[in-house]
Amino acid sequence: MERLQKVLAQAGVASRRKAETLIVDGKVKVNGQVVTELGTKVSRADRVEVQGVELVKEQFVYYLLYKPRGYISTVSDEKGRKTVLDLLPMIEERIFPVGRLDFDTSGVIIMTNDGDFSYLMTHPKFGIQKKYVAKVKGIPEREALKKLERGIELDDGITAPARVKMQSFDKKTGTALVEITIQEGRNRQVRRMFDAIGCPVQKLRRESFAMLTTYGLNAGEARELTTHEVKQLR
Ligand code: URA
Repeated sequence: MERLQKVLAQAGVASRRKAETLIVDGKVKVNGQVVTELGTKVSRADRVEVQGVELVKEQFVYYLLYKPRGYISTVSDEKGRKTVLDLLPMIEERIFPVGRLDFDTSGVIIMTNDGDFSYLMTHPKFGIQKKYVAKVKGIPEREALKKLERGIELDDGITAPARVKMQSFDKKTGTALVEITIQEGRNRQVRRMFDAIGCPVQKLRRESFAMLTTYGLNAGEARELTTHEVKQLR
């Protein structure tokens, strides 16, 4: 549910201020009834008319992007860095990233204009699994990996249980590749978890988000989710 003036502004009818005036002046109908109350909330199912013209609803779109390193996962950046939107220049809808990946993290990120969907995908209570592969400095002991699995104390509290698997290690370079699957999405969580066991992340890639992977895409490429995929996730 969104406030009526926000819906009008987002649909490009008028600025938020002008939309408020239209509402107060009785120029806006919701499901055939004039609404003059500014706090009124509407959903996509509601039919909104402004001066007799029905609002065209923006279609929801869903993209899976294989984010390369070196892009910020916001829609704009005050430091002028490249953003994930720069990789999808042909999309007219006002899409935004679902959750975030650090500037230096690569891998799966979903982009959409569907706020409810984004909430379902990111709130920890819905338990969406995100799998990462981290190249770390040092070769973590079994006990350290168990700590990550059970939950480890970070500045913002103990982490929820995770799945952790050593993929490989290289004694010559003193590095390891570790797979970690988490349900939370705290800021720089995976990097902070590995810092906490003394094995800082050198490279991080999100392998999967729920059942979605970068399969068939090169870094920087995107594809639309299929209707089936969206249904499975919802
Ligand atoms: N955890 C991190 O530390 N970084 C990311 O980009 C994603 C998860």
